[in-house]
Amino acid sequence: MTRQALAGAGRLQEQPIRMLRGVGPALADKLVRLGIVTIQDLLFLLPRQYEDRTRLTPLGALTPGMSALAEGEVKLADIASGRRRALLVRLRDGTGGLTLRFYHFRQNQKDSYPPGARLRVFGEVRMGPLGPEMIHPEIEHLEGPAALPEAAADDCLTPIYPLVEGLTQRRLRELVARALPLLDQPDALIDRLPPQHTGGWSLANALRTVHAPPASTDRRQLGNGEHPAQRRLAFEELLAHQLGLLRRRQRQRSHPAPELPGGDELSRRFLQALPFSLTPAQTRVLAETGRDLAGSEPMLRLIQGDVGAGKTVVAALAACPALSAGYQVAVMAPTEILAEQHRERFASWFEPLDIKVGWLAGKLTGKARERLLAELASGDCQLIVGTHALFQDSVHFRRLGLAIIDEQHRFGVEQRLALSRKGLESGWQPHQLIMTATPIPRTLAMSAYGDLDTSIIDSLPPGRQPIQTVVLPAGRRDDLITRIRHHVASGQQVYWVCTLIEESEQIEAQAAQVAWEQLREALPELGIGLVHGQLKPAVKAATMAEFAAGRLSVLVATTVIEVGVDVPNATLMVIENPERLGLSQLHQLRGRVGRGSQASYCVLLYQTPLSALGRERLQILRDSQDGFAIAERDLELRGPGEVLGTRQTGDINFRIADLLRDQALLAPARALAEALQRQPPEVADYLLQRWLARADEYVWA
Ligand code: ADP
Ligand code: MG
Repeated sequence: MTRQALAGAGRLQEQPIRMLRGVGPALADKLVRLGIVTIQDLLFLLPRQYEDRTRLTPLGALTPGMSALAEGEVKLADIASGRRRALLVRLRDGTGGLTLRFYHFRQNQKDSYPPGARLRVFGEVRMGPLGPEMIHPEIEHLEGPAALPEAAADDCLTPIYPLVEGLTQRRLRELVARALPLLDQPDALIDRLPPQHTGGWSLANALRTVHAPPASTDRRQLGNGEHPAQRRLAFEELLAHQLGLLRRRQRQRSHPAPELPGGDELSRRFLQALPFSLTPAQTRVLAETGRDLAGSEPMLRLIQGDVGAGKTVVAALAACPALSAGYQVAVMAPTEILAEQHRERFASWFEPLDIKVGWLAGKLTGKARERLLAELASGDCQLIVGTHALFQDSVHFRRLGLAIIDEQHRFGVEQRLALSRKGLESGWQPHQLIMTATPIPRTLAMSAYGDLDTSIIDSLPPGRQPIQTVVLPAGRRDDLITRIRHHVASGQQVYWVCTLIEESEQIEAQAAQVAWEQLREALPELGIGLVHGQLKPAVKAATMAEFAAGRLSVLVATTVIEVGVDVPNATLMVIENPERLGLSQLHQLRGRVGRGSQASYCVLLYQTPLSALGRERLQILRDSQDGFAIAERDLELRGPGEVLGTRQTGDINFRIADLLRDQALLAPARALAEALQRQPPEVADYLLQRWLARADEYVWA
């Protein structure tokens, strides 16, 4: 494709929506709010569901739960004054009856339904006191004698558009119906997908089919989004999304990064001081980051590795060449507890090597904060560990060379980019190293992190003990208390984790408080600590330190300990109400044990009754310790939004594609995006404009 080839094509992409008959300024304003500016935009408002109004269902065949189109003759219309006043209209045909129920009605509405009038209705059937009924159905008055069922119904399945304020489905359907014939114009849309990706479907045909599927369309296929017309569009959407990611990547590389060749003295001394040697997987990943750092293209690398795989030490080693060359390194963690832990670890590694390690969290205020900010600005502070406080406006670096971001899934993409922009202030694009212990299925990674290169630490350090996982009903709590007593008597420690009841840290904290009190009563002889997000950081940190030092035997905690916390002597973890969490999150939590040389245990203490699905999920966890396998199952069971968290999927707001269903399309879409990236930008531009028109769907750096 060339510039010339594109010229003249794509009329609907140029034509303002106002040019569509019936669209005045008021309607155009509403449409703009939906991101619809051109006629093309309207055609790319894609239905995700359909109603079947192509067939009339005889009243006698209506069953609860179905959405149906039906016709009948009014027998009676009356206002019933039961518990809730309602207008009831009784319809009959030769096969049975149907009641229409209206809770909101005008006083004289009853007169619109005189006995003998014939109505066509569409709605969801439910079982009412008088047999099948529909509540507030759509209604059409029919004239004349009963039509033959075939002739009466719609020709096409009825599309349901994404809900939009101030516009009815009917209105949208009318507009789209008016726009569809415009597809017949020559060159209405730019349609240049290579034939191997279209399944023989032109763009125009695919759009016609999804907006107005002929009655003969395979309903199940269409309902599942598996119709070839839908696949054709989904592929193009995934392609556009990949192009967007590649552009984001390109933008982040538009400024040079410092070249950090490695082989430096600091790296050598660091390795020498380390009490263990790197695993082959760590060595390989370190080499991958080393190659990136040595170049002037900013590194954009994601390190994935199961909990306990040893990502932190790799990150610390990656920091060495930057520090040696006189650049600053920032390490950002999503929670204060985790950031605190990183600070301790980085300080214990680097301070003996004369590198100054600083700390910045939201709670740091006053003089201490001012001093730290001054040290960052002057470059005195070489390595800074902190929370998202690191990208506040008041923070300025002198020479930020590398940004390390841990547990990326807790941050949004914007936050990661914000930190890298901080570096730009000093004239360089910092290298970025991102770590995650939430194993992301490959296909999903391609979408969520498609702008990053990926390294995987795929084996654990030697000597790790497998964690034996037990699934136990809450009724067995007393046995568990006995078990804890024995466990502590053998010199080991215990986590007791209370999970989220609602999306509220406060309520979770209360649950932990209650569990803590109960455990102290049941085990008065033991030292039992409590940490949760509502406590003062100093209190939290002090309790963590007590536990780490072995002065507390049991730590009751909320999921704040999910990430990063590292106490090898803690070898038993009880998770209360595990049915509330995602599998990957449970796997993360469980990874807090099994870190020492002793056998470790995880008890999933569930509330009864547990659904079949709930049981299946816990069994997956019991039977596997492979974070990737667990994540794949989690993805199947819960879908990408849940697995990645909303923060990550916020910018994957697909119109027709579905990451799970369309997995097979991702790799080819990626490959084609890479090929298009090497062509003149106009080629990608039309796809981006078409699919990513809504600016808020995308985060540009
Ligand atoms: P994660 O990948 O979950 O962040 P960490 O970096 O916290 O894992 O490492 C977990 C534990 O394993 C830490 O105590 C760390 O010091 C230790 N560790 C890391 N690499 C090795 C290794 N090669 N050999 C032995 N222990 C290691
Ligand atoms: Mg970690």
